[in-house]
Amino acid sequence: MYKADFPIFANQKLIYLDSAASTQKPDVVLEAMDTFYKTIYSNVHRGNCQIAVAATEQYEQARQTVADFIHTTPDCIVFTKGATESSNLVASGFAQFLKPGDEVLVSLAEHHAVFVPWQQACLRSGATFKVVNVLPSGQLDMDDFKAQLTPNTKMVAITHLSNVLGVVNPIVEIVQQAHAVGAKVLVDGAQSVAHLPVNISELDCDYFIFSGHKIYGPTGIGVLYGKKEALESLPPYQFGGDMIKEVSVEKTTFASVPARLEAGTPPIVETIGLAAALKFVSKIGMTKIAAYEQALTQQLVEELCQIPNIQILGDPLLKSGIVSFSIKNLHPSDLAVILSRQNICVRVGHHCAMPIHRCFHQSVSLRVSLGLYNTPEDIQIFVQALKKALSLFNGM
Ligand code: PMP
Repeated sequence: MYKADFPIFANQKLIYLDSAASTQKPDVVLEAMDTFYKTIYSNVHRGNCQIAVAATEQYEQARQTVADFIHTTPDCIVFTKGATESSNLVASGFAQFLKPGDEVLVSLAEHHAVFVPWQQACLRSGATFKVVNVLPSGQLDMDDFKAQLTPNTKMVAITHLSNVLGVVNPIVEIVQQAHAVGAKVLVDGAQSVAHLPVNISELDCDYFIFSGHKIYGPTGIGVLYGKKEALESLPPYQFGGDMIKEVSVEKTTFASVPARLEAGTPPIVETIGLAAALKFVSKIGMTKIAAYEQALTQQLVEELCQIPNIQILGDPLLKSGIVSFSIKNLHPSDLAVILSRQNICVRVGHHCAMPIHRCFHQSVSLRVSLGLYNTPEDIQIFVQALKKALSLFNGM
């Protein structure tokens, strides 16, 4: 729908179906970063020359843009280098308060960026790491969730939109139930934020994390949203410049959040790129983007369901922009190689989510994931190419 806004599609026939790994960048993002570098580039929160003041203003304005985008206030937004760092920041800080007998709940469908930091936090603290089951449909097993949630549960870390199954989890219900036993909730929004309207005050989670590069922004920038008291409860993740109040030989005191959690020179220009990306998608409208991608997903799923021997992970009718599958007796890598010769980009692997693949008795899958630049024609070209590749294998 918006291919013309993305220069990568200008001079080559590229069918890009790997947006869950990373999205392409529109001109407005590249231009915003370029202009910043060429006109007011400077470090932030330090200098008092004109460009340093302007750079700091734009950096803090970017924080406001992020806050507006997810319907919160800028003092609840911490800039990190990505969803992985956001997840580790919370897990490592939270681990300092966990003790034997405490429990952390994650789901089988978590990305390793959530699964592993919390597994490690439990190992370090002696807390119990519990994993909620996923149904064959790809939905979270809510009965198992309720059964495993206890007054000992201190944290529920859960994906909003699975990067393998493409299923949206019922976050509002999960948060309500977790809060009822006194647990905090971290929501992994790395995939959802680019595909669905996200309203933090409706979700009511304690933490929400995402990466700029999956929502048409640059790499190297991520977001940690936290309720004010949830952020304040975290100890500093790193120590250094910009996160202190006062330093002396005797002791150091720390700045208040969000500065306390942003040690050192931040990814300044990347925040400018992220803000430009969020303005770009906001101008189109997240509801419109979600509806457009949902129609494309339906087209994709209808086509895929007609392919013999295909095994789609989870219920095909529950997908939002992400579909992973395998074909009986064929390694997905062989298919991906044939597709890549036609400049069709899909992803083969475990997509940093080994436990959910194991749950579906697969080691890897072929994943097709959509972005707002994809068109019905992209889907047709992909499906035709897939069918042709399969006919080659069947003829062997
Ligand atoms: N969570 C999910 C659901 C993801 O898809 C990803 C990226 N594949 C991450 C977390 C981690 O994001 P990043 O690599 O940008 O830190």
